[in-house]
Amino acid sequence: MDKDYQRRKVYNWEKVIHRYNGLNNSQSQDTSKIVSKEEAKKYVTLIWNIYKNQLYHNFRPQYAYCSEVRIDNHKGRRRACMYNGFYNITDGKRILRKRKTKDGRYMFYKKMCLPSHSRDKQSMIHEISHALAPNACRHGIDFVNIYVYLMVKELKYKLSPIIKALNKHGIKFDFKKSKRIYNYLNKVNREEVK
Ligand SMILES: [Zn+2]
Repeated sequence: MDKDYQRRKVYNWEKVIHRYNGLNNSQSQDTSKIVSKEEAKKYVTLIWNIYKNQLYHNFRPQYAYCSEVRIDNHKGRRRACMYNGFYNITDGKRILRKRKTKDGRYMFYKKMCLPSHSRDKQSMIHEISHALAPNACRHGIDFVNIYVYLMVKELKYKLSPIIKALNKHGIKFDFKKSKRIYNYLNKVNREEVK
């Protein structure tokens, strides 16, 4: 099976969902809500810190400290993306030594590529979902679980149209893979059908 077997389906589905939630331009992005690079960094760092190691295991907090997401858009990449790795924070001296916290953990940051036209919440939520999902899953089940969870929780999207569209587009998801996601969405679902 293709490593990123449902990427195209996810792109099409998210377009429909953003449009349903009132975003009408061709990329289905809320370009009127473009923020500065500094604000983008603040937003994705905030989201990362709320959800890291909560939905899926992301790193070992007893050995590593990672509380920062940096925005980078070098090499003229046109598309937003999330880099898989954890990057060492150094102390900036001539010999770039790796920085440690007082209790001896190595300090890392995550890196998101975010071209200026993608600095809207929808794109940032998509990319940070990659950071929160296991690396290998690409646009697979774990990614979709997280992305839907954040769409509902952070973007305040309604759940039932999201699920309907997931099924219509033949996208695989399984909220039960994360207890936190399953419980939350189950509760939202019950409230929506009231
Ligand atoms: Zn993606």
